[in-house]
Amino acid sequence: MKPSKPVILTGVRANNNIHIGNYFGAILPIINMAKRRSDEYDINLFIPDLHSFTTPIDHSKLYDSTLNNARVYTAAGLPLDNPSVHLYRQSYVPAHSELAWILDCFTGFGEMSRMTQFKDKGSKGDASVGLFNYPVLMAADILLYGATYVPVGDDQTQHLELTRDIAERMNRKFGDLFIVPKPVIQQHQFFGKGQGLRIKDLVNPAKKMSKSDESGKGVIFLSDDPKSAHKKIMGATTDSIGKVQYDKENQPGISNLLEILTLVRQDAGREVTLEQTANEYFGMDRYGDFKRIVADEVAEFLENFQNRLAAVDEQAIEEKLASSEKDMNVVANETLYRVQKAVGLRK
Ligand code: ATP
Ligand code: MG
Repeated sequence: MKPSKPVILTGVRANNNIHIGNYFGAILPIINMAKRRSDEYDINLFIPDLHSFTTPIDHSKLYDSTLNNARVYTAAGLPLDNPSVHLYRQSYVPAHSELAWILDCFTGFGEMSRMTQFKDKGSKGDASVGLFNYPVLMAADILLYGATYVPVGDDQTQHLELTRDIAERMNRKFGDLFIVPKPVIQQHQFFGKGQGLRIKDLVNPAKKMSKSDESGKGVIFLSDDPKSAHKKIMGATTDSIGKVQYDKENQPGISNLLEILTLVRQDAGREVTLEQTANEYFGMDRYGDFKRIVADEVAEFLENFQNRLAAVDEQAIEEKLASSEKDMNVVANETLYRVQKAVGLRK
């Protein structure tokens, strides 16, 4: 199976505690992209299981959280029956590791030492070599499939540039080995940077909702019991202005709740905009009543999502993974073989 269309590739990190910020800010946009673009592009969604222990984790949970990711994407509407959507686990395509090693030997130590993310995260003495080296594995993830578009956040732009540098360097040395992914600016134009949805923490709406928040009081997890999520919304920080209004600067808590309310309504299939929701509740002066509306609908959203998650077709997921992994091994091995020949490992 040879990809006939250009490839969009994105890694979907294994994660057991997904919150509504991840869901609305990252998961749904990927699924919508997959649905919208799959006529023109192959969509490679891979689960980067090899990337998940560059820092220490509980390994007894890794396998299940990898599958859980596929389940969550399915519950969120990923079209498993779309033949242009490929869902696969990185470690099930061994060419990733093998190409990473070859690329390693064409990557400068000095070049890698300039990666700012390692400088930030790995400056402690106990950082693993894997944490230092993972941008090269990421380059292999991308180059094996000749991906042109890879949606990257700010923390990954330097790694995408590194991927381009490695690919161009090897192309100069060995002829046209790799398709070089588009530069960051074109990636941003393609995916539309700046849509940047950021759900805020309920307790401290000055910061974004994050899974690494210690108390979890301001975070709604997809796995939260709907009743406790209801309580979290009722306890959300507001302000002393006393009138519902979308004003992110002066009323960040209320504005956040208006955004959340709009998103859960959209998820329920209602065609509403933030502006419409804001108009509907504009000027309401009893925050408790407003919060109850949001809390009820968030609880309902969670209940629906959890029902969908419980009902996902496990067998369909296993079958999708198996068939994508089979196809992706063919594509990846072709690239790997080309590289092996170029560097003299194969005749
Ligand atoms: P951590 O605290 O460990 O950084 P996180 O909650 O920020 O976790 P990530 O795993 O870093 O989650 O991010 C996964 C994806 O979810 C990214 O694409 C990120 O942009 C998106 N995302 C994270 N938090 C939010 C949020 N509050 N609102 C919208 N999108 C978010
Ligand atoms: Mg984060």
